Amino acid sequence: MSHGFTAAAKKHLGQNFLHERGVIAKIVQAIDPRPGDVLVEIGPGQGALTFPLLDRHGELTAIEFDRDLHAPLQAAAAAHGRLHLIAGDVLGVDFSALAVRGGDARGQIRLLGNLPYNLSSPILFHALDHAGAIRDMHFMLQKEVVERMAAGPGSKVYGRLSVMLQAYCAVTPLFTVPPGAFRPAPKVDSAVVRLVPKPADAIAVRDREVFAAVVRAAFGQRRKTLRNALQGVADGAAIAAAGLRADARAEQVPVAGFVALANALPRA
Ligand code: SAM
Repeated sequence: MSHGFTAAAKKHLGQNFLHERGVIAKIVQAIDPRPGDVLVEIGPGQGALTFPLLDRHGELTAIEFDRDLHAPLQAAAAAHGRLHLIAGDVLGVDFSALAVRGGDARGQIRLLGNLPYNLSSPILFHALDHAGAIRDMHFMLQKEVVERMAAGPGSKVYGRLSVMLQAYCAVTPLFTVPPGAFRPAPKVDSAVVRLVPKPADAIAVRDREVFAAVVRAAFGQRRKTLRNALQGVADGAAIAAAGLRADARAEQVPVAGFVALANALPRA
């Protein structure tokens, strides 16, 4: 399959371009765009996902930091559909404003991308800040990151990322992708994950900042007991009020336990 053009990959921008047709088809199938959907891609690169999605859906907005890619992307896209290219850093893009200006009938967008792996966590947290504007997300990430995102209590990789994402989204790992599917091949396995933000009335967190502070403190010192790790954030009474044991460690506490604890504290 022709992606329209090729350019040398820039390592510092996390450029590992997908070339494996079967993987690309599986991602498009997982997204399964429907009429009226508003697709927003992070990091279109050389268009590996962009062009097949344009062929299928006709229109797409993409945010690309690498200015060298803009003109060739825009030129090659013309044969596939209408590409709205946003030049710049995805972390500076206000997804909520984007959804208000041009979202679907519910004022939402669908986010997707084979993410630059060095920016995975910042991009995920940035998306969480705009979760109300996002219907769902399909991301390619390092497999190890997807495992952390989806982990539950008791798992070695259960941590801040798991709790923060699962408090606001349903997290579903879809399939793994080997290094050979990319050029250049990354050193690690990758995986595609689906995130579906919960509707506002299904989110139990009362104050997002208090919740974030509790989770950060609890996992900041994951081998300590909650009583010690949460010093200055939550006292024994609050821990008990949330139904948690002060001698438990963060990695044993379910997402709902952190939510209950944060909700038992005064607002920031
Ligand atoms: N989607 C293409 C593919 O699958 O072949 C490219 C994926 S590559 C892993 C990540 C892409 O994100 C690159 O095109 C890179 O230039 C872009 N990128 C890196 N940092 C970015 C940022 N801060 N904002 C927007 N795009 C960025």
